[in-house]
Amino acid sequence: MTAVRQKIIAGNWKMYKTIAEAVDFVKNLIPLIKESPVSVYLAVPFTVIKPAADQAKGSSIFIGAQNMNDASEGAFTGEIAARMLKDAGAQFVILGHSERRHLFHESSELVNKKVRKALSEGLQPIVCIGETASERADGATEKVLQEQLLQSLAGVSALEMKHVILAYEPVWAIGTGQAATPEDAEAMHRFCRKCIADVWGEDVSQQIVIQYGGSVKPANAKAFMDKEDVDGLLVGGASLTLDTFSNIIHYHSQS
Ligand code: PEP
Repeated sequence: MTAVRQKIIAGNWKMYKTIAEAVDFVKNLIPLIKESPVSVYLAVPFTVIKPAADQAKGSSIFIGAQNMNDASEGAFTGEIAARMLKDAGAQFVILGHSERRHLFHESSELVNKKVRKALSEGLQPIVCIGETASERADGATEKVLQEQLLQSLAGVSALEMKHVILAYEPVWAIGTGQAATPEDAEAMHRFCRKCIADVWGEDVSQQIVIQYGGSVKPANAKAFMDKEDVDGLLVGGASLTLDTFSNIIHYHSQS
């Protein structure tokens, strides 16, 4: 059984862009991607969510966040709740990005709490998993992916799983210019689909959108997207400039 899955290309702006820069970017991106059948997501800094979402209204661009707290509200200085993100216009949130896992010591247990909170508030989570270079060298890639996937998504119902996007992002490929091969990405996506099928069933595993992330550029986007189990891309550095991001979105016209 092969499901037709939505193609979703997401940009992760990390800690870049002021309000004026973001509004300008969205305004100029809209006409460039008008004809594209791909859904375009932009994960922007918190300060930029509202103005970017206002600018994106009526277009095919979805604005989201890069992190959130798992609590509804409370005395958590410096944190932000799902309800606040929604209120500002966010439609999705990246959770468990490797920079959160490694620089801010987020465990899969914490990512799981955030995922469940996001789903309960109607925010679509993009859940990131990926192995480090040393885990890969030790032959532990599948074990790491399975653990991160099952722990981060524990307790999520089959119905909710249809709203989840999974992003396979090998840590060694993020921001390094050294992307995985499309064949490796495909193999890992298949492995993730098998893990999902074992817990949530074949139907969910065939419907879930799985993105590849890690040094995606216009020159390699098509090779990833041509793979059967790669449904989208999560793009960091190359999502910061209009030219490279729109070329990635139009991957089908790259040779
Ligand atoms: C990312 O930040 O999720 C990412 C994949 O970054 P880059 O595309 O720059 O490797």
